[in-house]
Amino acid sequence: MKILVINCGSSSLKYQLFDMEDENVLAAGIAERIGIERSLLKHTPGRGERVTLEKDMANHKEAIAMVLEALTSEEHGVINSFDEIDAIGHRVVHGGEEFSGSVLIDQPVMDALKRFIALAPLHNPPNIMGIEACQDILPSVTQAGVFDTAFHQTMPARAYTYGLPYDLYKKHSIRRYGFHGTSHKFVAKRASQMLGKPLEELKLVTCHLGNGASIAAVDAGCSVDTSMGFTPLEGLIMGTRSGDIDPAIPVFLMDKLNMSSSEINDLLNKQSGVAGISGVSSDFRDVEDAAARGDKRAQLALDAFYYRVIKYIGAYSAAMNGIDALIFTAGLGENSPEMREAVCDSLTYLGVQLDKDKNKVRGKEGDLAMADSPVRVLLVPTNEELMIARETKEIALGLS
Ligand code: ADP
Repeated sequence: MKILVINCGSSSLKYQLFDMEDENVLAAGIAERIGIERSLLKHTPGRGERVTLEKDMANHKEAIAMVLEALTSEEHGVINSFDEIDAIGHRVVHGGEEFSGSVLIDQPVMDALKRFIALAPLHNPPNIMGIEACQDILPSVTQAGVFDTAFHQTMPARAYTYGLPYDLYKKHSIRRYGFHGTSHKFVAKRASQMLGKPLEELKLVTCHLGNGASIAAVDAGCSVDTSMGFTPLEGLIMGTRSGDIDPAIPVFLMDKLNMSSSEINDLLNKQSGVAGISGVSSDFRDVEDAAARGDKRAQLALDAFYYRVIKYIGAYSAAMNGIDALIFTAGLGENSPEMREAVCDSLTYLGVQLDKDKNKVRGKEGDLAMADSPVRVLLVPTNEELMIARETKEIALGLS
């Protein structure tokens, strides 16, 4: 079975074609600058070299057509015809309260996705465009929607309810949803395999630390709390996002600095986080380098980031009455021994004992805890595309 995974942004479209017999990636790539002049497709066939194909793509439908052309081309193709694609899995950011798992896309699902545009105005519209483009070009192929929010739908009401008038939840769906669910689910499942214990017997804290960052409390395989909320702005300090702040600050910015809602939105999402504190960069590598050279604000940005990660892990350990394992994933989680050490050093009270030699690793799966550490510390590289392909396969098999 071959499955095409698609992740659409407003001007980009990422794809991977999987052969599900061995979960091998047959081809991967990205269409960039869709709807902007000089659009291009970067396509890497299996073991081949990456090729860059330049051709104007006015919209996502033209981009999908170009991806399919590349996948079947004589020069860089990996399949003979479109008929070899058994199903398409789409990453969809927001599934509201309606989707607690992946779904076969049909008209009622499309209607629901359109309703959720209000909740994810930047993300759901390009996701919808990608689905519609595929429906137009490959009408007979099974399509599945895999949601960033779905895994967190198991959160209890006490965790997802804000201290706001209840009517705002009932009338405007204002509650905590959580994101990065595909990644938290993927690493939690992998952790259970690595630990040789069923998920049902494990209390895990999964730390997805990349440019966007979130932590989840996973009890018996179910997300019971997570740091992102109504939007992906809540929670940890991130590359350019503020994470938790006093909600009175935007009001102060409006009243005292005359800032508009869009200026505040931009400030909190794009000019804050470690980039805003350090003034150096949103990329943790640059911030770590600057701190190592003695840049005090860079060090402060890292310290503030670590401190909040440590606080959330403590909070989630309290929420679950203890933890069995701590899992690090995503760009920073997989690649920064410094960050993992700084965080774990403050968690010895929980029974976290990091093996500092084993921790000297980047991007490679492993158990980094001391042999006798009561709490395991796992590095699990995430693979959201593979998770989407697996979920899509389940849906396609359910139909056959
Ligand atoms: P996103 O998908 O949210 O864009 P990623 O999961 O790709 O984010 O993570 C990107 C972040 O990971 C960047 O801030 C980058 O600096 C950090 N990162 C990647 N490699 C390293 C490394 N070797 N050391 C420290 N940080 C790293």
